[in-house]
Amino acid sequence: MIESLLEELENEVGNCINCGFCETVCPTLDPSGFSLWKGARGRVIMGRTLLEDTKNGIPIPALSDSFYSCLDCHACLYVCPAGVNAGKVSQLSREIITTSSDRKNENPYARMIVEVTAKYGNPLGVKKQSAAWSEGLEFDKNAEYLLYTGNMFQLMPYTKNLNSARKSMGKALSNFMASRVAKHPSLIKMLSRMRDREMEQKNFGTLRNIVKLLRISGIRFSYLGEEEPYPGTFIYDLGYIEKFAKYANYVYSVLKGSGAGKIITVDPHTYDLLKNTFPRFVANFNLEIFYYLDLIKIPTIEKGPEKVVYHEPCHFVLRDPKYSKPFQVLSTTADTVLARRNGNRSRCCGGPDELTFPELSEKASQIRYDELKSTGADIIVTACPICNVNLSKENTTMEIADYLASRVRS
Ligand code: SF4
Ligand code: SF4
Repeated sequence: MIESLLEELENEVGNCINCGFCETVCPTLDPSGFSLWKGARGRVIMGRTLLEDTKNGIPIPALSDSFYSCLDCHACLYVCPAGVNAGKVSQLSREIITTSSDRKNENPYARMIVEVTAKYGNPLGVKKQSAAWSEGLEFDKNAEYLLYTGNMFQLMPYTKNLNSARKSMGKALSNFMASRVAKHPSLIKMLSRMRDREMEQKNFGTLRNIVKLLRISGIRFSYLGEEEPYPGTFIYDLGYIEKFAKYANYVYSVLKGSGAGKIITVDPHTYDLLKNTFPRFVANFNLEIFYYLDLIKIPTIEKGPEKVVYHEPCHFVLRDPKYSKPFQVLSTTADTVLARRNGNRSRCCGGPDELTFPELSEKASQIRYDELKSTGADIIVTACPICNVNLSKENTTMEIADYLASRVRS
């Protein structure tokens, strides 16, 4: 296992000509105070060091934060003249660190998330509460589609409060707490009482609006309710590849067991993971994966008077720069613009670092927020629950389902 990871890493870092173009677009460099190790080129240099040291039996270097702080946005790939993807270097390096027996450089929060997910099927142990948004709604048990929320909208109110608690505790105490929870996952139940209830109601409303838009479009679907597991995004992103392989097969068996062959996802992280990553880990993967906006056909929509700026999520636009469905749909309802950095030059909101590097994440989101505001738009529209939380600095940020639902005329 480690040999194939080292080989892949060698293929990636071996082409770097050290030009530094990737640093100009890396969204973690500026927020880290221009620390070389928290920029794209530094990650490639560190990847090379990790490769050589691991091959020579030297313990893993202590700069693993370099890899853990990478947002996996892939912006660096589009400017590199040698075709190097520093995001892939970071992912492979995290996989090498977690596969190695030398675990002292593991991020304690990463470990906590992995252990809690393995025990509860949810990174914060809130699987039951994650179904509360659907109270009173009826679903079609035998429909060909299954609505799979992946718990992402539901987790955001917890991560927001968890981060506030971490700030007041300080790094040493919060890391100690995370290590204790990693050893005894049931302790998460204490933390998971701390949720932002106002955000919870807002996000529950977003999920209900997604249901409304799908139903207006004539789509029938089932829903797993309290049985719905988290997809395992964090486990994969944090490099726990063996655990992810096992977990992905568990999630697949639950989805398959629903009897539906078509899965409707509601956020770009879950969509990308199920569509592009699961088939590499699940033998004979046989499910069709959709993003809900690709299914909606709204008969009557009223154009609004305001100017809207659409923030493109990395897991759509930096995976497939041609994908523009959310922008197209928005453009039919409002005067819609993009930020100066858009398409394959788009800038990440910093969201994936929210739990592991909260200060860096906050600074990255402020930079993106200022870019979006500088367009002069009245409303920022997001198409991802993580972007939505990170860019909700005033009451002028809306998730796309909420914006569209407010414009539908029956
Ligand atoms: S842009 Fe590519 S070649 Fe240049 S430093 Fe970055 S990874 Fe290396
Ligand atoms: S994937 Fe994004 S955060 Fe990571 S090195 Fe590349 S540009 Fe920087």
